[in-house]
Parts: sequence; structure tokens; C-alpha cells
Amino acid sequence: ETATAVDIPPIVADCLVLVEHMLTRSQIETVTVLDQVPSVRIDPGELQQVVINLIVNALQAMGDQGRLTLKVSPQSREGVPGACLTVQDTGPGIPADRIASVFDPFYTTKIAEGTGLGLSISQTIVQRAGGIISAKNLEAGGAAFEVWLPQTAGRE
Ligand code: ADP
Ligand code: MG
Repeated sequence: ETATAVDIPPIVADCLVLVEHMLTRSQIETVTVLDQVPSVRIDPGELQQVVINLIVNALQAMGDQGRLTLKVSPQSREGVPGACLTVQDTGPGIPADRIASVFDPFYTTKIAEGTGLGLSISQTIVQRAGGIISAKNLEAGGAAFEVWLPQTAGRE
């Protein structure tokens, strides 16, 4: 693990290339809104792993129809400037009493193919970088996962 100053938007773009084969064989529409954000301190390979986990979960939740939305925007939390990445889908969402459980190791609702480790590992990665990962349901239906990371300090 080597944390460096990372620019989030190109990592999101790389992740979309990596899942392109999953998108082209479905009728999933992809919307990306990549604003300018401060750089964050994280291992770029680990951030990519987090984003891929969230995208694959969103695609698995939606099946072969829906809309995947990826947003990156500047956001301060408790006075700390940083960047927020949102991955949202139009799937069934998360049962209200399960939202607190989705980050637990081995929590999965996927009968055959789920390991239940994706979100647990993602949470470890994000927290180690000083960030916060959270899940919520959208009013319009679907789930949204947010990854907030603090901006790098000083000149990096
Ligand atoms: P896995 O994908 O192997 O099941 P994860 O840790 O990635 O493990 O996810 C854990 C569980 O959280 C999933 O099995 C699913 O029940 C729920 N989940 C994750 N992402 C979504 C999503 N976008 N929509 C609905 N449920 C989700
Ligand atoms: Mg998963």
C-alpha cells in the first residue's frame, strides 16, 4: 500500500473502462458527472478496487436495465475539505433494516456468487485513508454509496 496524491476523476474513468464489457452487454445507461476536486491521499490501486466494487454491486443490483450514475464533487465534512464520489443505481435499493449490515464481512444476499467481502474491504481501504464510506437508499428507488476522502495537505 503506497498512498500518494491521487486525482479521482481519471481513476473513475479507468474503472469505467474496466467494466465496459459488463455495460455493453446490458441496457444500462451510464451518467458521469466529474467536477474538479482536490487531490486525495490514498493508494490509487486501492481506490480503483473500491470504485470497481461499488460499480459491480450497482450493476448486479440492477440486472440488465437501469441507470448507473457516478459523481465526483468537492465536499467539506466537519470543516475538512475533501472530495466525494457517489455511485448510484436504479436497482431495488437496500432493505431499510440491512443498511447497517452491508459493510459487515461476509454479509451477502447473493446466493452463489457473493463473497460478502467487497464492501468490508472497501470500508477498510477508505477508513485507512482517513475517509468515510456510507450507504443510503434514494427516494426515487435504488441505492447510493458515497466515498468521502480528505484532501491532501499542502503541496503534493
Ligand atoms: P457481495 O457483492 O459479494 O454480496 P458486498 O460486500 O460487495 O458483497 O455487498 C454486500 C451486500 O450488500 C450485497 O450482497 C447486497 O445485499 C448489498 N448491496 C451492495 N450494493 C448494493 C446495491 N447497489 N444495491 C442493493 N444492495 C446492495
Ligand atoms: Mg460486491
